Amino acid sequence: MTTSYSTDIVIFGGGIAGLWLLNRARDEGYQAILLETNALGGGQTLASQGIIHGGLKYALGGTLTGAANVIADMPAYWRRCLNGSGDVDLRACRVLSESYYMWSDSGLRSKLKTFLGSKSLQGRVEAVAAEKYPGFFKASTVSGSLYELPDFVVDTASLLEVLANKQRGQLFQIGADDYLFNRDSAGKIDSVTITSQGQEIQINTQRFIFSAGEGNQGLIEKADLQTAKSQIRPLKMTYLKKKDLPPVFVHCIGDSFSLTPKLTITSHVDSDGLAVWYLGGELAESGVNRNDDDQIETAKALIQDLFPWLDFSGGEWHCFTINRAEADINNNYRPEDAYFVEEDNILVAWPTKLTLTPSLADKVMGHFARISLCPSAQSNTEEMSNILPSAELADAYWE
Ligand SMILES: Cc1cc2nc3c(=O)[nH]c(=O)nc-3n(C[C@H](O)[C@H](O)[C@H](O)COP(=O)(O)OP(=O)(O)OC[C@H]3O[C@@H](n4cnc5c(N)ncnc54)[C@H](O)[C@@H]3O)c2cc1C
Repeated sequence: MTTSYSTDIVIFGGGIAGLWLLNRARDEGYQAILLETNALGGGQTLASQGIIHGGLKYALGGTLTGAANVIADMPAYWRRCLNGSGDVDLRACRVLSESYYMWSDSGLRSKLKTFLGSKSLQGRVEAVAAEKYPGFFKASTVSGSLYELPDFVVDTASLLEVLANKQRGQLFQIGADDYLFNRDSAGKIDSVTITSQGQEIQINTQRFIFSAGEGNQGLIEKADLQTAKSQIRPLKMTYLKKKDLPPVFVHCIGDSFSLTPKLTITSHVDSDGLAVWYLGGELAESGVNRNDDDQIETAKALIQDLFPWLDFSGGEWHCFTINRAEADINNNYRPEDAYFVEEDNILVAWPTKLTLTPSLADKVMGHFARISLCPSAQSNTEEMSNILPSAELADAYWE
């Protein structure tokens, strides 16, 4: 026997995009559920550095690009959510650092001063006076300059937890190969049949949203969509775990301006209380061409060179590869903002960046309002929870 269930929106993928969209859709009165093939957040979201940035990083190329302009409003948007006055209540989400910094060695000082003093950037980046340096940089033995950006860092695990906790009854786990899309008489996909624990459930819906990160490609193929295209960019992320590492949140600028900082550091704490330095930036981009041992040796040399005063002896080093998944809008060109494409009843969505997730939700909700998608189904997920297990949160990569 096949159990039947009707809802307004079915979301595939429980990273930041799917969870944020689920919260927004339900707050706006839609019945919505989320289906996850793995664990919530275990794709890019928990691999991300959690930096909510206002785009200044992109200005390092010399001009404020489109990407920098689109993203500039995002820190304020997130701040409203974090203080409870935004459209998603994130008051229980932990902020790891209220500031994000940029560090450059003395070689670039005069060039940076001129550049950061330029009209477009005035007031957006502040040079930090040496006596106001955060602890780690106070101990610096090299002559460098520190700048404060209007960016900050969220704890992605607590962010996911806040979003998932509000929707516990709507989050379901499905097997990666245990579902099939069904088409109506006009050929449009209007339901999905899921097999779980020997039982079958057919879920009818007005709209599907695919927000499965790298998994969007498989969904596009399974639904035989013709317009949505995705691309991936691998990164080799490295982390150092050591007791008493000082918390550091900084982009380290190389000896030339470049869109990608030489090294981007965020600091975290694992479940044993060990401090974690999580390392991205150019190190992660070029790292995909190195084996793990070479990557760790390269990371050690870089840290030694940048911060000769840091004692990281006895630390534990690890690295792993993770793919960034983005829309491919024109021969590998990636959008500067969050992006979705609609084909029949299906929206395929990519936030492009964690920071831009609220923009994705605004676009999708705006679209639903424009096409007058009305909340209709009166659904109760109780019966479904007897068939589908609930989706759980993934652990951080350094656990
Ligand atoms: C190393 C790294 C660092 C980053 N740092 C930052 C940063 O500091 N700031 C920033 O703004 N952005 C950052 N980003 C980008 C940001 O992480 C991503 O844009 C964002 O997390 C994407 O979220 P998502 O929900 O679309 O995808 P994901 O987080 O990848 O979630 C997709 C989910 O879908 C599930 N799934 C897969 N296939 C299926 C399927 N068929 N059915 C159902 N579920 C499925 C997966 O298991 C996963 O849970 C970073 C990315 C990486 C990789």
